[in-house]
Amino acid sequence: MALEQHFDIIIIGGGVIGALIAREVSKYNAKVLVLEKNNDVCSETSAANSAIVHSGYDPVPGTLKAHFNVASIPLFPKLCQELDVEFHQIGSLTVAMSEADLPRLKHLEEQAALNNVPVQILNRDDVLIFEPKINKAVSGALFAPTAGVVNPFELTIHAMENAIDNGVELLLNEKVEGIFKVDDGWKVVSASGKAFITKAIVNAAGVHADKIARLVGDDSFFIKPRKGSYYVLDHFDNNFVNHVIFPMPSEKGKGILLTPTTSRNYLVGPSSEFSGDTLDVATDTLTMENIKQNAINLLPDIPFHQVIRVFSGLRATPSTGDFIIKEASNARGFYNVAGIESPGLAAGPAIAKHVVEQLLTPYLGLIAKEDFNPFVKPYIHVARLDHESRHKLTEINKQYADIVCNCEQVSLGEILDTLTRSCPPHSLKAVKNRTRAGFGKCQGGVCQLRLIKILADYYGISPTDVVYGNEDSHFLREESKK
Ligand SMILES: Cc1cc2nc3c(=O)[nH]c(=O)nc-3n(C[C@H](O)[C@H](O)[C@H](O)COP(=O)(O)OP(=O)(O)OC[C@H]3O[C@@H](n4cnc5c(N)ncnc54)[C@H](O)[C@@H]3O)c2cc1C
Repeated sequence: MALEQHFDIIIIGGGVIGALIAREVSKYNAKVLVLEKNNDVCSETSAANSAIVHSGYDPVPGTLKAHFNVASIPLFPKLCQELDVEFHQIGSLTVAMSEADLPRLKHLEEQAALNNVPVQILNRDDVLIFEPKINKAVSGALFAPTAGVVNPFELTIHAMENAIDNGVELLLNEKVEGIFKVDDGWKVVSASGKAFITKAIVNAAGVHADKIARLVGDDSFFIKPRKGSYYVLDHFDNNFVNHVIFPMPSEKGKGILLTPTTSRNYLVGPSSEFSGDTLDVATDTLTMENIKQNAINLLPDIPFHQVIRVFSGLRATPSTGDFIIKEASNARGFYNVAGIESPGLAAGPAIAKHVVEQLLTPYLGLIAKEDFNPFVKPYIHVARLDHESRHKLTEINKQYADIVCNCEQVSLGEILDTLTRSCPPHSLKAVKNRTRAGFGKCQGGVCQLRLIKILADYYGISPTDVVYGNEDSHFLREESKK
């Protein structure tokens, strides 16, 4: 029988929360393992959201949502610089569409003051100067300059890569199915039959976090998945809007918004419907039509003929109404970081710091490393280079001139680079999330076969063994000719 490996900390879940905690704890002398059930990190909620770094005026004052959202804002610029992540602090406008909404804007301004978030109320004329495409019926807006947009794939994947570079271990395709109390901590057992001993566990399992908590007998909360669907528009116009545009919030949440992404696509959504299924990310026409009608009310000229895809994500809505970030009362050394619905992406950096500095360090007596390297090796993105830099690069290495994805201008050199990094892709979707190959107008219609060949050649496997996403999602059935 194989000997069980021993760890100080096991993090369950490789979403943005697990990855940021892994990166934060890699600053300390601890043996850390991340277990992720899918074959890539950033494969569930962290891959399907609005990608907004909210300013923090919206969460109810005094909640953990408000605290960690606002505390994260000053952390983003340095973090994104160290991890080579695209982040643009473009500001947000929350738009009032009638005179009757103006007192509600005032209320949001007061809430922002309580949360310590700088905001400004704009009158109708100023709103239309800021954003000329907004419905002319607008009566005012709340401007929050510290809001921004971030690339959630880069944030998660680069954080995990940096954690691995600093000594954290990551195992993919390892679904945690059992947790048992042992003398020196916990024994964690995965579906593949592997077992690990650890002193502490961090439960960062997203919409599945209540199931993980049940494994140690903690039934203090449950998670109700809440679906949000979106349209993705092509990058048809770099200046269609330049801020995140929200409607007035309602009891259902922040409402149907329109936002540029870091790659200058536009997202329109999300809807908000509870779902009984933690894996149901299907979209439906009725919901999509409803999103369209709501969005048109905000910006009448959205060019829906520029839609290149639709998608859904699941919010991990907790029964407690707020983030759950604490040790389970019945399980010493077991920490829930659960119910991290919106603004979880925005709140992630401060949540990670808190979990490591306030929960894990006192429990385990962690000591900071002297040789922690905060930087990832810089990434090359041909599409982001000016003509001259691109020319110089391709003179040195022709693989950067060999464009595999025409829509997003992704080169062979970039794809090969990701394969040799410490958190490499094993599927088409993982290549797409790292390089944007397949994210464009044709949605991989042209480049997918070439990407399959690149992955098959690199891993020395048959093209029929290359998967789209998880292990059972084979793309090609059989070879038709040699
Ligand atoms: C529609 C929508 C819009 C949103 N918009 C925003 C926004 O604009 N700004 C913002 O700040 N936040 C937003 N959010 C919230 C944000 O996306 C989440 O807070 C964040 O992604 C949560 O990250 P996570 O790591 O907790 O979860 P996940 O990314 O889901 O990661 C959890 C991981 O745990 C793994 N896992 C689960 N069970 C097991 C197991 N048994 N064994 C091993 N691994 C397991 C999963 O496979 C998964 O990879 C939005 C969410 C949604 C759905």
